[in-house]
Amino acid sequence: MRFLDIIVKKREGRELSTKEIGYWIKEYVAGNIPDYQVSSLLMAIVLNGMNARETSDLTLAMMHSGEVIDLSRIKGIKVDKHSTGGVGDKTSLALGPMVAACGAKLAKMSGRGLGHTGGTLDKLESIRGFNCYLDKEQFVKQVNDINLAIIGQTSSLVPADKKLYALRDVTATVDSIPLIASSIMSKKLAAGSDAILLDVKYGDGAFMKTPEAAIELAQSMIDIGTALGRSVRAMITDMNQPLGRAIGNALEVKEAVETLKGNGPQDFTELCVIAGSNLLVQAQIAKDVIEGKAMILQAIDSGQAFEMLKTMVKTQGGDDTVLDNIDLLPASKYITPLKAEVSGYIQHLNALSLGVLAMKIGAGRETAEDIIHPAVGIVLEKKEGDNVTKGDVLAYIHHDDILPQDWLDDFYNSYHVSKEKVKDTPLIYKIIS
Ligand code: URA
Repeated sequence: MRFLDIIVKKREGRELSTKEIGYWIKEYVAGNIPDYQVSSLLMAIVLNGMNARETSDLTLAMMHSGEVIDLSRIKGIKVDKHSTGGVGDKTSLALGPMVAACGAKLAKMSGRGLGHTGGTLDKLESIRGFNCYLDKEQFVKQVNDINLAIIGQTSSLVPADKKLYALRDVTATVDSIPLIASSIMSKKLAAGSDAILLDVKYGDGAFMKTPEAAIELAQSMIDIGTALGRSVRAMITDMNQPLGRAIGNALEVKEAVETLKGNGPQDFTELCVIAGSNLLVQAQIAKDVIEGKAMILQAIDSGQAFEMLKTMVKTQGGDDTVLDNIDLLPASKYITPLKAEVSGYIQHLNALSLGVLAMKIGAGRETAEDIIHPAVGIVLEKKEGDNVTKGDVLAYIHHDDILPQDWLDDFYNSYHVSKEKVKDTPLIYKIIS
């Protein structure tokens, strides 16, 4: 088989066989196909697409390029969730304890933040002592003992995706539904859970810009997972503005704690409660989402969801006392208010530009080597639809270094204020299964 022939075939818009896809992934991971040839094939896929069979074959080839985790020693149905990434998305921190408190087993492997999106591991590491690196025995034991563990993805999981994603990132070949679907699902399937809830975001701050594109991506991932006997559901959610009010690692932990105690922002709480009720159905703990919702709300009201976060943090070596006194979390050197210069309604809040600014001040990474500043970030006081009067604080910027004026201008320009009242956009557009 010649790799060049595979490139030509896809360039001409033809379908690749299972064998050709398997050959590509195996030989690329083994170092026998150069990046320049693979980037050419990736571009042909971006332009000409892949059908469902090709996408599923690519997912399976990637999944089997490394270790496939066996969670069979964890009793019961194992659930997992995945978000396609957004700004202020701290869902795992609150949703994990909520469903675990209701009896679901959540064995979650998470990633670090890159670019404008944050990563769950970085957020958890803003809690002193928290250890994201359990070995497999510890991971399985912890989920059996307390229902919940969130750890870093091992380097042996889907090596094909590591190589391909790094290449896609620098060759303008990220934006392709078959490539995104296979990248996400190969990792989720290799991580071993029985039921997966996907949060597929659309909007400024997301890969998919419209709900229609997000539905197409979600359906492709559902088809891949269902064909392999997993229960897969997807929520299609709005990421035109950040989720909740906090962006930045320790700030997001604080917001997750408030949410677990029942005092979180309305949008973030709604997302967690709806996601949790679906996961409880997928875990066969609730008969339907109505019962699931009641169980999640009860876990919040009774304090069990918050206690579950504390238990997980303590079991993974973290200082759980900071969760009782969140002022003990890392704090930034400076807090600068961003004030409205005109009165009106917040027409739009640009998630992407706020995510990029949060990254620039140190809450995220531009390259994988960058060091995170756990305390820095943004707390939004005003969000889409809110009424503001000139002089009101729109947001507080938590920072460790002096802010250049042009960054302050960019912060300000992320807010679009107009005289018009704004129509409410629902956070959850649709749930599909
Ligand atoms: N997240 C992933 O894991 N892979 C993609 O291709 C895009 C988002």
